[in-house]
Amino acid sequence: MDTASFLRHIQSLLWYEGQMAHLEQIPSRQAITADVDPPLHERIISTLEAQAVTSLYRHQVDAIHALRDGKNIIVATPAASGKSMCYNLPVIEAILGDRSARALYLYPTKALAQDQEKKLAALIPDERKVRTGLYGGAPPTNDRAGIRPPARHTLLAPGGRPVPLGIPGEDLVVTSDAFMELERLPRRIVLIGGGYVAAEFSHLAARAGAEVTILQRSARLLPHFDPDLVGWLMPRFHELGIAMETGATVTRIERTDDGLRVHASRRDAPDLSVTADLVVHAAGRGPDLDALDLAAGDVAARDGRLQLNEHLQSVSNPRVYAAGDAAGMGPPLTPVSSHDAKVVAANLLEGPSHRPDYRGVPSVAFTVPAIASVGLSEDEAHRRGLKFQVNAASTPNWFTARRLAERVYGHKVLIEEATERILGAHLVGTHAEEVINLFGLAIRHGVTAADLRSTMFAYPTGASDVGYML
Ligand SMILES: Cc1cc2nc3c(=O)[nH]c(=O)nc-3n(C[C@H](O)[C@H](O)[C@H](O)COP(=O)(O)OP(=O)(O)OC[C@H]3O[C@@H](n4cnc5c(N)ncnc54)[C@H](O)[C@@H]3O)c2cc1C
Repeated sequence: MDTASFLRHIQSLLWYEGQMAHLEQIPSRQAITADVDPPLHERIISTLEAQAVTSLYRHQVDAIHALRDGKNIIVATPAASGKSMCYNLPVIEAILGDRSARALYLYPTKALAQDQEKKLAALIPDERKVRTGLYGGAPPTNDRAGIRPPARHTLLAPGGRPVPLGIPGEDLVVTSDAFMELERLPRRIVLIGGGYVAAEFSHLAARAGAEVTILQRSARLLPHFDPDLVGWLMPRFHELGIAMETGATVTRIERTDDGLRVHASRRDAPDLSVTADLVVHAAGRGPDLDALDLAAGDVAARDGRLQLNEHLQSVSNPRVYAAGDAAGMGPPLTPVSSHDAKVVAANLLEGPSHRPDYRGVPSVAFTVPAIASVGLSEDEAHRRGLKFQVNAASTPNWFTARRLAERVYGHKVLIEEATERILGAHLVGTHAEEVINLFGLAIRHGVTAADLRSTMFAYPTGASDVGYML
């Protein structure tokens, strides 16, 4: 293939890859009927069905034609969305097993390339036909493939992953993803960590009948939420029978005849142990960078974090941006990822001039009832030397709580004295996960306590209590 047609080909592949995210899955019969002659069509359908592959995209049809004509083809897989392409191509090759064409597969990371190379080698009998390479927006040329990278910019958004615990028996611990995919609830569950993931999972599992123990290293659960409100919520954990060990650092996990024994150390109990059928990692997450060959792209990272400037741009390679949990610039929450993505898109289109704005990002732990927070904590506001009034009360006697028989209901709102700006709001109780958004709006857009007091809210709703909190 000459250079010009190579470039045309890879551009069209990339265009297709880019479009893939927006395409509905096209049933294979419908997608290939128009383009492939009838005998080949039947062979493709039967092979696809035998391999349980359900779809074939237009670019894969192009690939079939190219391979049949004895051309080499190049497949670039920028992200997870490209996977169906990699998996289907071996199928295409199997269909056209008697031709001499070769395929070169390009992957964004070394780990992915190696992993796919193994899978492809297993699928394609003649190993010589499989070559994988790396590409990325970062390096000007590629060592293994020896080609110019197709992307002008690269966005790193691989998300987060549980931070390694670094203790013996760590491999016996499952992630939150595995917990959510469970088909059966184990009888005894230990949650390592006591943040919002452990709080939500413990409420869920205990309500479904499991015996749950939380082992939390800090002095209290939900350390990112206001201590008074967490205190008001704690009776609901006790009522559910959730065992909570705070100040307890998990030191090792071992498999025994009776299940998984989790050892922890607490100042007054150096060898505390709990036996469980399932141990879940809920001890915090960090950027998921391990699979990325950052050095190859000259992307600086330190202590597992990407080094970015205020535009979410790599400090070492201006062609690389990051967003969401992987960027780690704002709180690790879904709306923050969306916000980062918009900032990066604007920077790509208009040059690096936009910065993320993380004011007023609400955060909720979906316990029952929920606990929610936005803006500054009382401690942070003091640390910043702000002068503010604190309106705080446990109010289970308010009508909103009583009409739903909810015994946990309270708030803490911080209002700057000179300006009546809302500095922070902390809520626990029914509707907290909705009402917190009003305070988020106020913080982000400078709506003052006076504005909120003079607003008329529908009654009786969670929001109709806002006026009483100010
Ligand atoms: C148990 C749990 C509960 C949560 N609850 C909430 C909540 O209630 N509200 C809230 O706002 N946030 C919640 N979060 C946080 C929220 O899920 C994350 O902040 C958000 O998903 C981050 O979005 P992201 O796009 O940065 O990453 P992700 O959503 O993690 O997406 C990253 C994607 O990149 C893919 N990927 C990774 N590496 C590679 C690679 N090398 N090549 C190609 N693809 C790759 C991954 O497979 C993944 O699909 C929760 C998180 C957990 C773990």
